[in-house]
Amino acid sequence: AKSAGRGTHCLFEPQMDETARERTVLERELREALTFGRFEVHYQPLVDLDRNRIKGVEALVRWRHPERGLISPAVFIPLAEETGLIVPLGEWVLNQACRDAATLADDISVAVNVSAIQLRNRTFAQTVLMALAASGLKATRLELEITESVLLDDTEANLETLHTLRRLGVRISMDDFGTGYSSISYLRRFPFDKIKIDRSFVRDSAGRSDAGAIIRAIVGLGTSLGITTLVEGVETEDQLATVRAEGAQEIQGYLFSPPRPLSEINEMLFLAKAR
Ligand code: C2E
Ligand code: CA
Ligand code: CA
Ligand code: CA
Repeated sequence: AKSAGRGTHCLFEPQMDETARERTVLERELREALTFGRFEVHYQPLVDLDRNRIKGVEALVRWRHPERGLISPAVFIPLAEETGLIVPLGEWVLNQACRDAATLADDISVAVNVSAIQLRNRTFAQTVLMALAASGLKATRLELEITESVLLDDTEANLETLHTLRRLGVRISMDDFGTGYSSISYLRRFPFDKIKIDRSFVRDSAGRSDAGAIIRAIVGLGTSLGITTLVEGVETEDQLATVRAEGAQEIQGYLFSPPRPLSEINEMLFLAKAR
């Protein structure tokens, strides 16, 4: 950078400082938010297509910022992972989600996203057990969603933790399936209970003659391995029709409902029952 000449150097550096400063501010605010309880968990329904009913909900964290309003996890989860703050944050989400789910009907499960950094922690299985015990939620009502990056590193220890949890009755889903390099090989390494097909596949299938070909292939793979398949990001009736035609068991997406606060999920469940 120095050889690029004085002018470039001077123009470039203040901007870098700015980015670094913003990052530092965000990190400090993230710590404060944890201390002062400024996170919220919203829930998005996971819908069983056969019976057209809500089977479970996915817990999705939001940050209630005093000036900037509700901040998306896409903004702060990466920083939380870089700084290690994902460990206390993830533990908070897990506990909140278990407590909330325990107030819902017995046949509604809750899915919680788990970052690779959390799973790498040797005490993770213990953390999950404590969240279940404290909330009174049955292990079979908890699903943990992991992406394949979890299996990329530290494989043996991570697999062992996952096996321990699964023996206790917790179910394990592979999230964002199809976006990584070797998703399929991971299906042989670990007995997942559910595959969540990334929403890029349903989005790209709309209006194309080969609509659903990839979804069909993944559903076929899941069926032969005894794994439930869910399609993420279903936004339109057309997409729903494709997903149905290809035989996936579950969907999640704005067509049915965006993520909502627990009280609104409760209302939806109540109305569905009264129908
Ligand atoms: P994800 O686990 O793949 O979660 C699904 C994301 O897709 C959510 O975004 C959800 O709001 C969005 N979504 C659902 N249906 C639709 C749809 O029909 N169309 C579109 N365009 N989007 C849809 P959200 O809540 O912003 O979360 C983004 C990501 O942040 C999550 O992706 C997950 O990777 C991460 N995340 C959220 N909460 C947590 C958490 O508690 N822990 C960890 N480690 N990661 C989290
Ligand atoms: Ca997820
Ligand atoms: Ca996903
Ligand atoms: Ca994702």
